[in-house]
Amino acid sequence: MTQRLGVLGWPVGHSRSPAIHNAALVALGLDGWRYQRLPVPPTLFAECVPALGAAGLLGANVTIPHKRAALALASEASAAAREIGAANTLTFAGDGTISAENTDAPGLIAALELDPRGRSALVLGAGGSARAAVWALREAGAREISVWNRTPERAEELARELGVRAVRAATGADLLVNCTSVGLALERSATEEHALNQLGLAFDQLGEYSYVVDLVYRSGTTPLLAAARAHGVRTLDGLEILVAQGALSLELWTGRRAPVEVMRRAAREEAPAG
Ligand code: NAP
Repeated sequence: MTQRLGVLGWPVGHSRSPAIHNAALVALGLDGWRYQRLPVPPTLFAECVPALGAAGLLGANVTIPHKRAALALASEASAAAREIGAANTLTFAGDGTISAENTDAPGLIAALELDPRGRSALVLGAGGSARAAVWALREAGAREISVWNRTPERAEELARELGVRAVRAATGADLLVNCTSVGLALERSATEEHALNQLGLAFDQLGEYSYVVDLVYRSGTTPLLAAARAHGVRTLDGLEILVAQGALSLELWTGRRAPVEVMRRAAREEAPAG
């Protein structure tokens, strides 16, 4: 039986999710299941998404810039999605119900190779993924969470809503999690130092962290992870987190255990050169 899944975004051409999910669907023997890009502009999102559900779409991941809009249009949402204020996973029922979930948060915790309980964390950014990261770290028992953002007012608002601390300058911590888009492919021409400065960091400061996580993914390394590794600091890249959140979404839609290793391999094979 044909079942349709996809990723809603604008733009969405760069997404690794179709490769990751289609490899998983093959590995699970789900013949006839397909996962595709669903480019939908913001102006059409509220109109298109219910129509896609009515046309038989079973589930969708949601990426930039629709995560807040996805939560807003859902008929029901998990407590996590509501508290974070964003959804990255929608499930469509035959009766028109749209359920919203946020797997970015548990995906981050699943991908971390260390238990955040009792550890301090500095989160960079104040957008949708920063909200999920702060919420996830707080729920996982991190003891002191700080948020820094280029636009400090947004960090202050996030901190107020989620009960953490906003900082105007980067502070040392056990974990450093970059949830900004600094280091994306478009900025390849920038120097490592310039990218670090955009994150409010200087190269020498990277030694003040025990574990550095970058949600940005690209082939090769990001400036932040390169600087962390130069200090001998453990790192985690964005592809691991993409795979972890995708695995949780797939399990919701299929009721099957996700083949994480197959998904990881597909993610890394598909990553663009450079
Ligand atoms: P978003 O809501 O648009 O937030 C973007 C954030 O980046 C804001 O805090 C913004 O700061 C900051 N920023 C943008 N350009 C900057 C610059 N030049 N210098 C300093 N800060 C800058 O985006 P998002 O959904 O949170 O996603 C952020 C990144 O995480 C994206 O690259 C996305 O691809 C990645 N991501 C990866 C995964 C994964 O599974 N690996 C999951 C989710 C997101 P201002 O508030 O000052 O504008």
